[in-house]
Amino acid sequence: MKCKSFFNMTMDLTFLGTGSAYPSPHRGASALVLRTEGECWLFDCGEGTQTQLMKSQLKASRITKVFISHLHGDHLFGLPGLLCTVSLNLNPCPTQPPTCVDIYGPQGLRQFLRVALELTSSQLLFPYSVHELEPTTDQCPPEGQLSPDVTADSGRLHPQERPGRTIPLDVNSDCYVILEEKRFVVKAFRLFHRVPSFGFSVQEHDWPGRLKTELLKDLGLKPGPLYGRLKAGESVTLENGQVVKPSEVLEEAIPGRKVCVLGDCSSLLGEGPLRACHRADILVHEATLSDEHREKAVDHGHSTPSMAAAVAQACSARMLVLYHFSQRYKPAGQHKEGDEDNVLELRRQAEEALQGTGIEVSLAEDFLTIPIPLIRLH
Ligand SMILES: [Zn+2]
Ligand SMILES: [Zn+2]
Repeated sequence: MKCKSFFNMTMDLTFLGTGSAYPSPHRGASALVLRTEGECWLFDCGEGTQTQLMKSQLKASRITKVFISHLHGDHLFGLPGLLCTVSLNLNPCPTQPPTCVDIYGPQGLRQFLRVALELTSSQLLFPYSVHELEPTTDQCPPEGQLSPDVTADSGRLHPQERPGRTIPLDVNSDCYVILEEKRFVVKAFRLFHRVPSFGFSVQEHDWPGRLKTELLKDLGLKPGPLYGRLKAGESVTLENGQVVKPSEVLEEAIPGRKVCVLGDCSSLLGEGPLRACHRADILVHEATLSDEHREKAVDHGHSTPSMAAAVAQACSARMLVLYHFSQRYKPAGQHKEGDEDNVLELRRQAEEALQGTGIEVSLAEDFLTIPIPLIRLH
């Protein structure tokens, strides 16, 4: 049983970069952080992510896991530099070895980091591990597939590298189960883009409901270890031989939260994405161009607001957050009279497509933080 009350379990999502293609003075390249209980999980790491992190309230040293959706530079060029800066600022603790940073992403990521760190003679003060997702050939046009000569694991680890896993697609669930731990299950799923691209779903386990303390007192049970056992789902036997089941003394469970972050895509692939994103509290989806430019967007492997809205509706998400805007869209606050492209129009298009569904639409901007509260059923 977790010893902390679920009321303390804050979770939020901070966008560090919301622009596509390259970082600009008004939008950083793709990066966002899911923060929970002081741990930060970074999703994508475009060029300049480290300076965006420094401008934010987040601490780069708290990043324990990194998820890379695909190998395009606007999602990846920032990673070697960020790791080096975290290392420079690390204060090694003599009694506790530094924690290993786990990095998840498409095949080729391991070799990319190895070469980038090795050719720049970069040493890190902490270990890292790259866990690679095996793409399928239908995730992109043939020209987007990397040759095995490029992605092949040389087998020669960087001095700070620890062996990582190679994760195949689980054909039954059409997902990649990449992490299962005490509090979360993280899955990846396939998207269609110009190169193999993935989305990630982070599902928090349900929290047990509160103990009905009045009822427990009536049964003669005093606060103590037995309370903990009941809350952990164990039945307990009273002195008089009566068995008390957790379901009798616990209020309804609190549903865990689900956050889904999709990499660049013009469509979903297979059943995996909708299964993994079903009833997401937050669905982060790209909307590179507006609906008028749909053909161009799809040609480049991207989506428009109404395409993102269709995905949000298909998986019954609670909130759709749009990001990865073409650099032609200035942040709403910087929009000037006469500017042709207005980012608010992207939100309007998604809202129109979702009218009557109850799905909320939000536009991501650099440094926007979205809190994700637990929603109690009663
Ligand atoms: Zn991109
Ligand atoms: Zn891309």
